[in-house]
Amino acid sequence: MQRLQAYKYELRPDGQQERQMRRFAGSCRFVYNKALALQKERYEQGEKKLGYAGLCKLLTEWRNSAETVWLADAPVHPLQQTFKDLERAYSNFFAKRADFPRFKKKGRHDSFRYPDPKQIKLDQGNSRLFLPKLGWLRYRNSRDVLGTVKNVTVSQSCGKWFVSIQTEREVEQPIPQGGAVGIDMGIARFATLSDGTFFAPLHSFRRHEVRLRKAQQALSRKVKFSNNWKNAKARVQRIHARIGNARRDFLHKTSTAISQNHAMVCIEDLAVRNMSKSAAGTTEQPGRNVRAKAGLNKSILDQAWFEFRRQLDYKLAWRGGWLVVVPPQNTSRACPCCGHVSAANRQTQARFACVECGFEGNADVVGAVNILSRGMQVLRDEGRDTADASAGMLRGCPRSVSPDGLWIELRWRSEAGTHRSDSGAAQCHV
Ligand SMILES: [Zn+2]
Repeated sequence: MQRLQAYKYELRPDGQQERQMRRFAGSCRFVYNKALALQKERYEQGEKKLGYAGLCKLLTEWRNSAETVWLADAPVHPLQQTFKDLERAYSNFFAKRADFPRFKKKGRHDSFRYPDPKQIKLDQGNSRLFLPKLGWLRYRNSRDVLGTVKNVTVSQSCGKWFVSIQTEREVEQPIPQGGAVGIDMGIARFATLSDGTFFAPLHSFRRHEVRLRKAQQALSRKVKFSNNWKNAKARVQRIHARIGNARRDFLHKTSTAISQNHAMVCIEDLAVRNMSKSAAGTTEQPGRNVRAKAGLNKSILDQAWFEFRRQLDYKLAWRGGWLVVVPPQNTSRACPCCGHVSAANRQTQARFACVECGFEGNADVVGAVNILSRGMQVLRDEGRDTADASAGMLRGCPRSVSPDGLWIELRWRSEAGTHRSDSGAAQCHV
């Protein structure tokens, strides 16, 4: 099975290289914005959008024209790659996955990508990397790169430069470890497993909230673009970066721990975007509980559930397991014992007590158990559909997304029923 994996390191450029990288990122931004403006103009005049090849031809003109001759100093492949990015932005927009492409701003996601592995040399023994027009760059060699290099992205965040090395390698089809488990995601507990264990939330944003607010207030009092303003801005960005780093670290540790010990993980399909919608309403119909909802939204977004699900998905796939997403209706209200569904079962946030059969338990654990049994149902239905066509092959289940959003498809051939009996054992936990 083929595995795509990216490795990210901090770069240690010298002054000259740093200036170059800043210029290259600026050139890429310029080219992207110019192409976007051009496409908009063409649209207004009723012309068709220019394709990648057409834009590349224009790029050559820009690099030769006297006005933008400085573009010729930047490596050509990264400039061309911005057209790929623009195309992706358009297709995300047409597929309703994203808003209309926007112009790039200086200092926000500054980056450029080298797509051609033939031009890249990686010297891991000496912790250095060769990139066109930058020469040998030193990097903080924190782990080994495995596989062949496919492309390299250089990016800047908080004044530091990073390199992300995308690789490809052949790995043996992994055998999944452990049984099945359901996960209930929540505010008070980040994740509760159907076996009763849970992960406490990190609240990385809330922990830095006061400090961040003060830094933002200090920034607003400074004269814009003055030296003091620049320092204050850097401070705000540093706090943001720290929040992000702590959150990423927490999510990775949690998703690794869960994916190492389970072959199958069931999770609710929560539309985070709907859940975190503001309760403000319109001027004619003002919403209720606006402040309370805003607080809840902050918690939901702070916990980054969607990112967690993405990590679980690809990590499980790497270990041969898979993620099953189940519809969320009534998972917190149904009794796992007798199946009775009622809002009255849930008298407090933490306690579940069935009004029909008297079963009692922790509400989050009950939710997780319900999610697990729903996941089993999903699997059984899928298995039944394809039982004749390919015995023991579960269609569609073991599918996963790689970290960069490219699709990996993974098919798991098992002795019919192994996983189901595995999961049967995990189901008995109530
Ligand atoms: Zn009951």
